[in-house]
Amino acid sequence: MMELDGNALAGDLREVFATDMTGAVFTCAGCAHTGVLATLRVWQPAPGLVGRCPHCTDVVLRLVRTPTRVFLTLTGATRLELPLEP
Ligand SMILES: [Zn+2]
Repeated sequence: MMELDGNALAGDLREVFATDMTGAVFTCAGCAHTGVLATLRVWQPAPGLVGRCPHCTDVVLRLVRTPTRVFLTLTGATRLELPLEP
């Protein structure tokens, strides 16, 4: 095993976040429900967008935009699953 810094994630993260994420499958940390992000119940402004699980209403993600940054919090999801383009 070799220890690297976070720059080793660059290629894979670019692939993950440069695609339409609404088809990504989340697993809710609160109830283990799985579904695509498009099925979240979204509330705004909170500030930003708050996506809640359609099954248990726990917060799955928060997305806040500022003029210079985007903050994405995924503490309510234990996993995101994205299909890869062939
Ligand atoms: Zn849930």
